[in-house]
Amino acid sequence: MSCLFCSIAQHNIPSEIVYEDDATSAFLDIQPRSLGHTVVVSKTHAETIIDLPAASLAPLFLTLQHVTGMLSRALHPAGFTIGINQGLVSGQTVPHLHVHIIPRFTGDGGGSIHSVVNQPPNEAIAMTAARIRKYS
Ligand code: 5GP
Ligand code: ZN
Repeated sequence: MSCLFCSIAQHNIPSEIVYEDDATSAFLDIQPRSLGHTVVVSKTHAETIIDLPAASLAPLFLTLQHVTGMLSRALHPAGFTIGINQGLVSGQTVPHLHVHIIPRFTGDGGGSIHSVVNQPPNEAIAMTAARIRKYS
């Protein structure tokens, strides 16, 4: 199966890898939204966080933590926005789970994660919580 981020993680497509280990890879986004915009992936192919085997989750998040620290020390941003686009509706364009680390700088004009959508439900949140808990 051909997958862009598997190919990058396997060094078959060039990219600016800033960190990698046996299980994960972190490389600079080709269209950075800010200085140091980095994408972190598992070397295990999975389209979404729901599909990723549990054993691959901890390495992914350990690398996410490590690379965020690297970016902090290297570039001195004022903060970060860290997130996953999952599904076409959210803007996922590469069907291999990836976590964006977007360094944030004072006065960068960006918003918070809350700015990606603002469609408050009519349903009471207690009702929503009850519906979700049935699937724990
Ligand atoms: P998504 O929209 O799926 O959450 O994010 C995919 C990201 O991958 C985009 O920010 C896009 O700029 C980046 N991207 C797409 N193709 C390439 C590529 O070939 N190399 C690198 N380094 N990044 C890519
Ligand atoms: Zn893949």
